Formats: sequence, C-alpha cells, structure tokens
Amino acid sequence: MNAPVKPSNLIKGATGEWEMVIGLEVHAQVTSNAKLFSGASTAFGGEPNSHVSLVDAAMPGMLPVINEECVRQAVRTGLGLNARINLRSVFDRKNYFYPDLPQGYQISQYKSPIVGEGEVVVDLADGASITVGIERLHLEQDAGKSLHDQHADMSAIDLNRSGVALMEIVSKPDMRSSEQARAYVTKLRTILRYLGTCDGDMEKGSLRADVNVSVRRPGEPFGTRCEIKNVNSIRFIGQAIEHEARRQIGILEDGGSIDQETRLFDPDKGETRAMRSKEEAHDYRYFPDPDLLPLEFSQDFVEALKADLPELPDQKKTRFIGDFGLTPYDAAVLVGEHESANFYEAVLAGLANARRDGKLAANWVINELFGRLNKESRSIAESPVSASQLAAIVDLIGEGTISGKIAKDLFEIVWTEGGDPRALVEARGMKQVTDMGAIEKAVDDIVAANPDKAAQVRDKPQMIGWFVGQVMKASGGKANPQAVNDLLKTKLGL
Ligand code: ADP
Ligand code: MG
Repeated sequence: MNAPVKPSNLIKGATGEWEMVIGLEVHAQVTSNAKLFSGASTAFGGEPNSHVSLVDAAMPGMLPVINEECVRQAVRTGLGLNARINLRSVFDRKNYFYPDLPQGYQISQYKSPIVGEGEVVVDLADGASITVGIERLHLEQDAGKSLHDQHADMSAIDLNRSGVALMEIVSKPDMRSSEQARAYVTKLRTILRYLGTCDGDMEKGSLRADVNVSVRRPGEPFGTRCEIKNVNSIRFIGQAIEHEARRQIGILEDGGSIDQETRLFDPDKGETRAMRSKEEAHDYRYFPDPDLLPLEFSQDFVEALKADLPELPDQKKTRFIGDFGLTPYDAAVLVGEHESANFYEAVLAGLANARRDGKLAANWVINELFGRLNKESRSIAESPVSASQLAAIVDLIGEGTISGKIAKDLFEIVWTEGGDPRALVEARGMKQVTDMGAIEKAVDDIVAANPDKAAQVRDKPQMIGWFVGQVMKASGGKANPQAVNDLLKTKLGL
C-alpha cells in the first residue's frame, strides 16, 4: 500500500524525517473446549499437567486427530477478516528442540495456510481510518510452559497448554505509526470477540503479538526489519515500536546499518534488546506432517459458517449510523467493545420508540452511564443502572414527561437507590409541568419582577436565556423548556 504519508506519522531525526513500517504476527488462542489434535481440555488455570492427553505429551505412536471445531473457528475468523478461505491446506512440522515441546516439532501450517489474504478496516482517534492487509491466517499448536521458579536447581514443565490451538494472523507491513498498530490490534481483538473465536484476554496470554519494525526515508523502499517477539499488551506494543524505531534511526543516522534480528521487549526498561541474529535463526526444516492428511472441506461448509456469522463491528456501526442517526464517533465508541454494543442494543430493545430516541439513548449510554462507570472504575456488568432502567429514563425524556435536567436527577436516584424510573417520577413529583396555566403564571411573575431586564431584552434577544433560566428555576426544573421559551417570546414581544 502506498497511501500518501501523513506528515504527523513522520519522525524527525537529526538528519531529516523517517517513516516507520510495521507488520504484526498475532497469535490468538482459538476458543474451543478441546485442543487442536486431542480431546484434552483447554481450560485456563488447571493444576499443572492436568489437561494433557497422550498426544499432547507426545507419547510414541500417538496420532493427532484434527478437531473440527478449531477448523470452524479458523474459517469463521477468516470470513470475519474478509479473507480468502482455502478449501485445501496442509499441516507441516516445524522442527526445533525446546524442553516444553515434547514432540520436538510444532505442527503448524507453512506454505498452504487455511486462510489467505484479507483486510481489516481500522478506525483511528482523529476519525480517519486505514485498511490493513492480512497476509494469511494459519492454525498451529501452542507449546507447554517451563517453570523456573519451583525448585532451586530444577526446571518444571507444565504441558497444559501443549497442543492448544492457535491462529497466527499475519498482517502486511501496512502500518506507519505505533498508534495505527495499537488500533489494529484493538480492532482485530474486537472482531475475534464478536466472532467468539478468541477471548482476546492478553493477560492470560490468549492474544500476543510479534511486532516487526523497520524505518525508511519517506518514499524509499522498505528497510531491514527487526522482529520483537511475544509482546503481550497493547500498551507494550506501542512502547516497543516507539523504542525500536528510534533505536534503528539512531543507528542509521550514525552511518550504521540494521541487522535483521529477533528482539525482546523489556517492559520495565521500556526498551528492546537483541535475542538472536538472522545467522542464529532456526532452520525449522518444515515438511508436511505424515501423520495428517491435507485439510480439505467444501465450499458448502464455508457458506454454512458464513450464513451463521454474527453481525460484526463494521456492520453494526453502519447500522447504528443509518438507523438511529448516531455520529460515526459515537457509533465507533459503542461497537468498540462487544459488551458496550450489547448494552446499547438492550437499551434500544427497551425503548418505546427506538427510531425516535435511539440517538438520545446513545448519548445517555455513552455520556451518563459509561462516563459514570469510568469514573468509578466499574465494568458494564457491574452497572447499578440496567439497560431497561436506562431505556425507561430515555422514554420519559423522549415522550416529554421529564426534562433532560430532571432526567439527570432521576438517573442519580436510580444509580444510588435503584427502582423503576417511571414509578419514581410519579412518586417524587418529578413530572415536567406542561400545564400552560402554571407556566404562564411563573413567566408573568418573573417578567413583572424584572422590568429593567424586560426592557433590555428587545435590543439583546439573547437575554431570553436568562428569563428561561429563571422560570425553570422557579418551577424546580420541571417546566417544559420549549413551552417556557415560546411563552416568553410572546410575553416579551420578541
Ligand atoms: P517471516 O516468515 O520471516 O516472519 P514474513 O515475510 O512472513 O517473514 O513477515 C513477517 C511479518 O513481517 C509480516 O507481518 C510482515 O508484514 C512484516 N514485515 C515484512 N517486511 C517488513 C518490513 N520491511 N518492515 C516491517 N515489517 C515487515
Ligand atoms: Mg515471523
């Protein structure tokens, strides 16, 4: 992709400007009860070595059997990434020795992955969006885990993760800033969560990224890249990129050159350090696994999965904008997390007139509810105000029973005390006064008490705001603001 370079993405070096080029290899644990080639459980946090079948422990003579659910999940993910699905793919052995890899090889896919090229649309903070190409998605096994802190002079091995299915999702080198890379991983994670193909929990290691970074002068060919292995938080991905790009620029500006190497990110120091050079890179001696036939399925199998896909964030965003008039920004906030979108949709379902009040409901969900939850560091699941309670509050505003201002008081009551919003409005006399006689009296009183201001307002019509405020105050916030405004205009001769 050769999109024009936005000046803000360039880094100023001592000798001029540089552009970073970033490509990510994301490892996402497939949501599935059983492992890729065995029936052992994938549950997190079991006793060490309690979820290990003979296949996972690589006992001699054991044969892998493909788990169809993992295949379905990979295909569904490919469809969610608008990618080509390969009806025939091949499992290869990637050979290397590591104590937590009992087979002595990882079963992966190399030349023939299950999913080919696709793309992800990524929204950025400034409202712009970029398209990041997907190179491929392949299925592979996870390794076990070495534990070095259990004994003074021994390492322990936990094979619970051994054989768990991973999807490796490889992007094209289409990102040009750490912000873009963070936004890409965020979007990818959102898509996986909507699909239910990976829980995206980076703290548990369900999602981690190898981050490839190079730098170049704008318009020049790509530079030599370094690969930062296994970065396990979105914030660290951003920090690793920033540090690595600056390190490379420093070397190049001093007249040096970049060695292609694998590096590690140290979150405590915020820097990357060398792990192994290209010369030390493994030769994995890939070859097709003779224990497994090529993976083949029909287009009908793919079509059936496609027909069953849930609505994904981009489609949901378009629908929220089209059906309810949300701003693209608000729609993006709501679809950004699956839980947020679900909550908003539950509010919509509770509204008497969603088409009329859907936009108002979005404001209330984002500003009042999410704002308050954020302030109190609570999750949506911990919200004291339910979707149906919020829908009732929005209904009351939409139908004109309470003003927006009273609604904030009502929200506060529901938040702290709970209760049915409509019943609360009745019981506590919070209804908007639409009785024109009562409003007229309040207007007359205010105008009569302020003859000087009433005289000025003819020259300075914006002063009507002051009168509206006074009448609203006199009514305890319950007068209908539109009725007050109209009446004042008549009375003041505007
Ligand atoms: P490998 O198999 O050796 O890891 P790939 O060609 O599959 O190599 O690339 C791995 C990742 O590196 C991809 O995500 C790709 O986008 C990224 N990449 C390739 N070239 C560059 C580059 N010059 N700068 C930054 N990233 C790159
Ligand atoms: Mg790689």
